[in-house]
Amino acid sequence: MTTGFTLKATDGRARTGVISTTRGEIRTPAFMPVGTAATVKGMMPESVAATGADILLGNTYHLMLRPGAERVARLGGLHRFMNWDKPILTDSGGFQVMSLSELRKLTEKGVTFRSHVDGTKYELTPERSMEIQRLLGSDIVMAFDECPALPADRTRLEESMRLSMRWALRSREAFGDRPGHMLFGIMQGGLERDLREESAKALTEIGFDGYAVGGLAVGEGQEAMFACLDFAPEFLPQDKPRYLMGVGKPADIVGAVARGIDMMDCVLPSRSGRTGQAWTRRGQVNLRNARHAEDPRPLDEACSCPCCTGYSRAYLHHVVRAKEMIAGMLLTWHNLHYYQELMAGMRAAIGEGRFAAFEADFHAGVALGDIEPL
Ligand SMILES: [Zn+2]
Repeated sequence: MTTGFTLKATDGRARTGVISTTRGEIRTPAFMPVGTAATVKGMMPESVAATGADILLGNTYHLMLRPGAERVARLGGLHRFMNWDKPILTDSGGFQVMSLSELRKLTEKGVTFRSHVDGTKYELTPERSMEIQRLLGSDIVMAFDECPALPADRTRLEESMRLSMRWALRSREAFGDRPGHMLFGIMQGGLERDLREESAKALTEIGFDGYAVGGLAVGEGQEAMFACLDFAPEFLPQDKPRYLMGVGKPADIVGAVARGIDMMDCVLPSRSGRTGQAWTRRGQVNLRNARHAEDPRPLDEACSCPCCTGYSRAYLHHVVRAKEMIAGMLLTWHNLHYYQELMAGMRAAIGEGRFAAFEADFHAGVALGDIEPL
């Protein structure tokens, strides 16, 4: 069985298609729930699949520290370890080394750092990142890159992007020929148009199975991110999937799809679920709020998830306030279900050539705000 990307329809710049992998098809635009430490927090893997997710994201940085890639490999790989048999994409570790680790030292060779868990010293290079992702058994492997926080001055962005392109070539060489597995390159260059173009050119010359737009959703804000997405995806090949890393809120996702993005990941639906926050067709709802205390209505009467079909807002409010585990479980389930419904709605709309109307309906729903209190 071969891997690859089939573009099925476009509507404006929005695209819908299918990524084929040996572990199943990924319908795009796709949202990937984040399974940081070999679990989507609060969810059984079969429940994640039931929300409509075709693929999960695993974090190289977290898994290399604990339990360790070699241990996961000895136990049969990440799919078997966490009981998820659909595709897994792993990040390269680069972003989280920058954001989480201590005492980092960046050189041409790679990064040395101390674990935020126990202080142990590690080295991560393009070659080691490819080895870890191979040991985990990832279906979609990400090239190792450096992601500077924004705002950053142009010299810093330029040097960082060129280092990432040299690392992209080393990642490609270290990945080698692995039938059934895909390697994605990561475009950098901050918000600078010419740097994005230079980065895309360097990556396409190396040749990857897909391309990520990296270095966004790092503090620049939605307006700046969309301005960059107005040009950056167009520098990438039409016939390969485009992945926007670490995005985002529902409105970010809809706007990114409108600008030609095919895949996204974010901790937001699961993290929000653990703090009493729900995402719905009518925007964000805080179940901690006292207005829900005696409200017998479901969170969203049109939602078919187990949270909305079985429980009242009053119950959700109670378990959030009482810090019961089921609060995070139910709200994470609802949020992931809502995100996957949003993706399915966009796929259908693009396929039928009515994406602009879908986008308008989405914004109209959010603008309505939550249902009136009883
Ligand atoms: Zn629901």
